[in-house]
Amino acid sequence: MQPFTYLAGDSADASIALHAQPSTEYLAGGTTLIDLMKLHVMTPSRVIDLTGAPLRSITDHGDHIEIGATATNTEMAHHPSILEHFPLVSQALLSGASVQIRNVATAAGNVLQRTRCQYFRDTTARCNKREPGTGCDAVGGFNRMHAIVGASERCIASHPSDLCVALMAIDATIAIQGPGGQRSVPISRFYTLPGERPDIENVLADGELIVSLSLPKQPWFRNSTYVKVRDRSSYAFALTSAAVALDLDGGRVRNSRIAMGGIGTIPWRATAAEEFLRGREPTRDDLRAAARTITAGAKTTPHNAFKVPLAEQTLVRALMQAGGSA
Ligand code: SF4
Repeated sequence: MQPFTYLAGDSADASIALHAQPSTEYLAGGTTLIDLMKLHVMTPSRVIDLTGAPLRSITDHGDHIEIGATATNTEMAHHPSILEHFPLVSQALLSGASVQIRNVATAAGNVLQRTRCQYFRDTTARCNKREPGTGCDAVGGFNRMHAIVGASERCIASHPSDLCVALMAIDATIAIQGPGGQRSVPISRFYTLPGERPDIENVLADGELIVSLSLPKQPWFRNSTYVKVRDRSSYAFALTSAAVALDLDGGRVRNSRIAMGGIGTIPWRATAAEEFLRGREPTRDDLRAAARTITAGAKTTPHNAFKVPLAEQTLVRALMQAGGSA
């Protein structure tokens, strides 16, 4: 690992002030950053530890739950209000990583985690995300885990998060603070598609940090689930996943929220599937048809074409699971 200067920020303001020098990164749980520093993929000269700042609380405000940036995955997953109002969030968190990692990984770190593309993590490989303009060894390489929607010719890396798929389904909001003040961004507008610039992954400006997440309550979000399909039953990233909340009137779908993981370059909200289901008393064929609205535009490779039927089956299972529990 390249030597770096460690600084502790005891507040958001102090951390932002410390950040005002080149080659500086914020550190929370470190489960992404430290890994990438060991691999020389990220080589900051200065690291500002946020875990001493008062950003860790989880507060139920009645109509929404506010999660501090450095609340851990374990604290979120087992929080009584999250368990009661957002089962899909708790399930997504518990499906990710290992107990040890969940004990240190944080809310903001999860939102900002980097791709697991093996070429991104290998400094001998060509990677437009790590070194813009160098090319992409995943295109034409081994890309079984890579995205089938949202990709560009420059990058086909999938987004690895489970939590963010659930957050996308419930329209969470991200509170940001930086040198220019505070602002809130809906998660649906937080991530950017790779396009020509896969190195730009979100709308955070230089020096900005995430201070909290806001989860807006709807009574029917209690009827929600997260289904994850992976190569082994623990400590594995999603091949495909689905976060679903259903508002049912008898057997009829009054409203729904659907987001998919493992298939997109960003957590993938499926509004066309939501619209397809609205007002229907869906049969299994309807559920499959809803799933096909997501995969219809998929661009696959010989290695990852299996994700098309797998994503459809994952969503059908999640919808049936959520429907069955209503
Ligand atoms: Fe890099 Fe994206 Fe290509 Fe992976 S898919 S090598 S992250 S440019």
